[in-house]
Amino acid sequence: MLDIMTLQVTPFAQDCRILAHQETSDAVVVDPGGDAQLIISVLEQQGLKLKAILLTHAHLDHVGGTKDLLDHYPQVKVYGPHRDDEFLLQSLNQQAQMFGIDNSGSFECEYVGDGEVLKLFDDASFKVLHTPGHTPGGVCYYCQEENFVIVGDTLFPGSIGRTDFPRGNFADLINSIKTKLFTLPDSTDVFCGHMGDTTIGEEKASNPYVR
Ligand SMILES: [Zn+2]
Ligand SMILES: [Zn+2]
Repeated sequence: MLDIMTLQVTPFAQDCRILAHQETSDAVVVDPGGDAQLIISVLEQQGLKLKAILLTHAHLDHVGGTKDLLDHYPQVKVYGPHRDDEFLLQSLNQQAQMFGIDNSGSFECEYVGDGEVLKLFDDASFKVLHTPGHTPGGVCYYCQEENFVIVGDTLFPGSIGRTDFPRGNFADLINSIKTKLFTLPDSTDVFCGHMGDTTIGEEKASNPYVR
């Protein structure tokens, strides 16, 4: 079983997640947008061993603390986003100016592709769902064993991600939600990048953007 902890980071209250295995104390951090010292202190207080970092997309409020975390945990591998977000990773300084938040620097990552399965725990893996729209290289991570999906800024409770940032695309976003997320079981917990969490069934029933 995994414990899922939520840490709000950056002035954008981005929900960074720590996924921690209850028996092995192995841990994965998803979207360390900033406040790396806070993330590190929680990992250390709980005696967790960081194994990997997952990124849903390359907006700075989701990736801005990655370099700081890697400085502390140099062996850790970074997975995601999809290669189509490379232009955003190459413009972290411009993003820092645009968003008015800190940029801890560039870093190496392994781009992921649709359908790829990342076996990050002995008994839990993450299937990559390429969900362009909010950004072209945005991905979601589906953990079937634990019945949840981490969606970044693709879907929110009663809302959807913005599509007015560079290379955002409304039609792509709606298509991603309908064909990738809404084919998951209704009971799937949805962990969003901001504004709380939901389930697939709840959003299928009541999200006004994707009826
Ligand atoms: Zn975003
Ligand atoms: Zn965000």
